[in-house]
Amino acid sequence: MNYVIIGSGVAGIAAIEAIRSIDSASSITLIGDDPYGFYSRPGLAYYLTGELHDKALFPRTAEDLRKLNFFYLRGQATKILRAGHILELDTQSTVSYGRLLIAVGAQALPLEVPGADLEGVLKLDHMSDAKLILKHARRGKSAVVVGGGITALELAEGLLSRGMRVHYLLRGDRYWSNVLDEHESRIIEHRLQEEGVTLHHHAEVIEVTGGHAKVSAVRLLNGQLLKCDLLAYAIGIRPRVGLAKQAGLAIDRGILVNEYLQTNDPDVFAAGDVAQAYDPMSGRSILDSLWTPARQQGFTAGLNMAGEKTAYLKAPPFNVTRLAGLTTTIIGTVGRGRDDDLVGIARGDSETWRQLPDSIVAQTGFEVNRLRLLVGEKTLLGAIVMGDQKLSFPLEKMITNNMDISPIRERLLAPNARIGDIVAEYWAGVNTRH
Ligand SMILES: Cc1cc2nc3c(=O)[nH]c(=O)nc-3n(C[C@H](O)[C@H](O)[C@H](O)COP(=O)(O)OP(=O)(O)OC[C@H]3O[C@@H](n4cnc5c(N)ncnc54)[C@H](O)[C@@H]3O)c2cc1C
Repeated sequence: MNYVIIGSGVAGIAAIEAIRSIDSASSITLIGDDPYGFYSRPGLAYYLTGELHDKALFPRTAEDLRKLNFFYLRGQATKILRAGHILELDTQSTVSYGRLLIAVGAQALPLEVPGADLEGVLKLDHMSDAKLILKHARRGKSAVVVGGGITALELAEGLLSRGMRVHYLLRGDRYWSNVLDEHESRIIEHRLQEEGVTLHHHAEVIEVTGGHAKVSAVRLLNGQLLKCDLLAYAIGIRPRVGLAKQAGLAIDRGILVNEYLQTNDPDVFAAGDVAQAYDPMSGRSILDSLWTPARQQGFTAGLNMAGEKTAYLKAPPFNVTRLAGLTTTIIGTVGRGRDDDLVGIARGDSETWRQLPDSIVAQTGFEVNRLRLLVGEKTLLGAIVMGDQKLSFPLEKMITNNMDISPIRERLLAPNARIGDIVAEYWAGVNTRH
C-alpha cells in the first residue's frame, strides 16, 4: 500500500504514527505547505506573549520524525484526481496514492470590510502569522482587536504584553456570550480591563482606513474613528474544504466522514479541523477545532487506512485554556444561542459546546474561582471551571463516563448549594468504592 497524507499538522503526523504502528514497510508521503512543518498551534498564543520561545513549540524532534520513515514533499496539494488515484501539487509534480488522508485544517474567516486588505490587518493561523504580528507590534504603538472566543483574547493579551495599547472591540454586549454565562463574561472583561485593555461594547468595524497601503485607523458603525497601527481579527474559522469539493467528495460545513474517518470514497480519509466527523453516540456530524480530537482522529484514520476497523468515538469536548490570565476548563455542553463576534466556531472551540439540551444550572462563586455545572436528568452535561482547577479532572471523568449523579442531584440544585464540596465528596466516594 502507498499512503499519502496532505497536511503536516497534528492530525497528519498522528496518522503517520498510527500507520507505522502496524505497517513498517509501506511507503508514506507527507505533503505540507507550512514552512515550519509540525508545531503546536495552541502554543502560538504563548509565543505571542513571549512566554514561550518559538523553538519550544515543536512537539517532535527531527529524530522522532526521521524514525517514522516517510517522504516529505514541501508544497501544496491542488487537485485530487480520484479516478486515477493521483494528486497534483503546485510544484507541477504529481503523486499517486493507494489511500489518501486529507488533514489540511481550517483557516481564519476573512474580515469582510473595505480596507481589510491593507498591510497590518492580521489573523492568526500559522507560525508565519504570529511572526508577522510580532513584526508589526515592534513597529507600532496602538492595536485594535476584533472577534470572539479564545483567539481574540490571545491576540489582545499578546499585543498588550508587547507594549501596545490595545482596544478590544465587541459587537455585542458581552464576551463569548454563547459559551460563557453573564457572570463569566464579566469576570473575563474585568480582568482584561485591569490588565490595561480598553474594552468597547457594541462596537463594529465598518471600514479600515490607511495611507501608503498600511492600516492607520478603523471606522466604527457609530462613526468613531480609532487610530491604530495594527488590526488583528479572530472572527471564526472555516475548514479548508476546497480540495474535497473539487474532487466531488461529500461536504457540509467540513468534509463529511463516517466514524472510521472515511469519506464517501473508501480510499480517501479526512481528519482534524477539516473533518466533520460522525458521532455514533449523538447521531450528529460535528466540527471541532481542538488539538486532542484532531490527534485522535488522525490516529484513528491512520489505523483504518492501514486496514484496521477502529471507530472514532468522540468524547465530550474538553479544553483547558487561559482567558485573561484565568485558567478555564470547558467540558461537554455549556451554552447555546448566537454570539455576534463569531461566525461559526473559532480556534480551540467545539460545536458541541453550544448544543445544550434542557438542563438546570448549578453554580457557585462570582469571583475568580467559579464553577458552573449543567445538570441533566441523571448525568452532568457540561461544566465550566474557572480559576481553581482541582475539580476539572473529576468533572471531566464524570461527564465523559456519563456517571449517574442521582445521589447528589437534588443537593446540587438546592439554593446556595456548595456544589464544589458536593462534587468533591461524590468523587471521593466513587474512588473509595473502586
Ligand atoms: C492561535 C490558535 C489557538 C488555538 N488554541 C487551542 C486551544 O486552546 N485548545 C485546543 O485544543 N486547540 C486550539 N487550537 C486549535 C488546534 O491547534 C487545532 O485544532 C489543530 O491544530 C488541528 O490540527 P489539524 O492537523 O487538523 O490542522 P492544522 O494544525 O491546521 O494543520 C493543517 C496543515 O495543513 C496545511 N495545508 C493546508 N492546505 C494544504 C494543502 N492544500 N496542501 C498541503 N498542505 C496544506 C496547513 O498549512 C497546515 O500546516 C488553536 C489553534 C490556533 C491557531
